[in-house]
Amino acid sequence: MTDAPEIPVRVRAEVAALPPYKQGKQAGAEAFKLSSNENPFDPLPGVLARMQSASALNRYPDAAANRLRARLAERFGVDVDGVHIGAGSVSILAQLVQATSGPGDEVIYAWRSFEAYPWLAVVAGSTAVQVPLTPDARHDLDAMAAAITERTRAVIVCTPNNPTGPVITQAEFDAFVERVPSDVLVVLDEAYAEFVTAPDAVDGARVLAGGAHPNVVVLRTFSKAFGLAGLRVGYAIGHPRVLDAARSTAIPLSVTAHAEEAALASLDAEAELIERVRTIAERRDRLAAALREAGWRVPEAQGNFVWLPSGAETIEVATAFDAAGLIVRPFAGDGIRISVGEEESVEKVLRIAASVVKDLPQGHSGRGLA
Ligand SMILES: *Cc1c(COP(=O)(O)O)cnc(C)c1O
Repeated sequence: MTDAPEIPVRVRAEVAALPPYKQGKQAGAEAFKLSSNENPFDPLPGVLARMQSASALNRYPDAAANRLRARLAERFGVDVDGVHIGAGSVSILAQLVQATSGPGDEVIYAWRSFEAYPWLAVVAGSTAVQVPLTPDARHDLDAMAAAITERTRAVIVCTPNNPTGPVITQAEFDAFVERVPSDVLVVLDEAYAEFVTAPDAVDGARVLAGGAHPNVVVLRTFSKAFGLAGLRVGYAIGHPRVLDAARSTAIPLSVTAHAEEAALASLDAEAELIERVRTIAERRDRLAAALREAGWRVPEAQGNFVWLPSGAETIEVATAFDAAGLIVRPFAGDGIRISVGEEESVEKVLRIAASVVKDLPQGHSGRGLA
């Protein structure tokens, strides 16, 4: 319990028990903000110009973002009804959980994974079932399949896993989905798909091709690789009737015309944006390799972030980064996620990481060969 004053109205007990949402720190002028997996590059001028040309602010947007839907449908080779646009892919995730899972139902996901998952399950009134990651910070898909009961309504898998970094392989996912009952939703959260360089990684587009798995929905976003986090636009590809259920729970008109236009402009400028993604992925590989060289056990890093398994020392280690003007994301007792940011931040991160690793006890989970 906290010392917060009592809530003056009656709210659901499970909601009252949730800690109030607190966003990661905003960076000061001098600091590098490496806490939210944002894209360090400024938006392309062409994308900004297109966004500003979007329809007048006194008009509501097109509720279904149909131009963007059509564009993505063409790209994924699906029907327009097989695409759903949301104000960030997190909002689509919330819709899918709400559509499938209520009181008495179970939502399975790996832990540690994306912070939004437990919250989404609780808000829907359902029961969260967390399946621990393997010691090398990967999804334990065998254990996740074994956790399925007749109450399971949704399984969320995150690849690359936020915040630890490893991907699920295509072979692992194919074997897993065979074990999931065909009426249980599988959400494949691919928020970082564009940064993946591992050749054996699962690819949601390939999973959906052929239509063998109508219970799988793939989620992607314009927030990370395309650098539009501030505009809130993401999408789902999946079976039209499953997406209809999500649409039924959506708050109407959440996707603005400006977000839709910027997403369309980003697809037009994709080659240039993907070049930046390549730069970030290369920077990530360099950062991860140097951290391992310094003694950190960094797991496979396939997103735009790296994971330091700092365990019980997490808050102290995060404080050292903070003092050096590096805003990172600590998960107390577990580890620290550091986004791959500006080139100038890399050397600074390495300097602090190399100096703090020496103070960790021998045999510490964060120390040793990755
Ligand atoms: C960032 C992120 C998202 C998407 O965020 P939106 O900005 O809402 O599109 C979804 N899943 C994971 C795992 C993420 O890290």
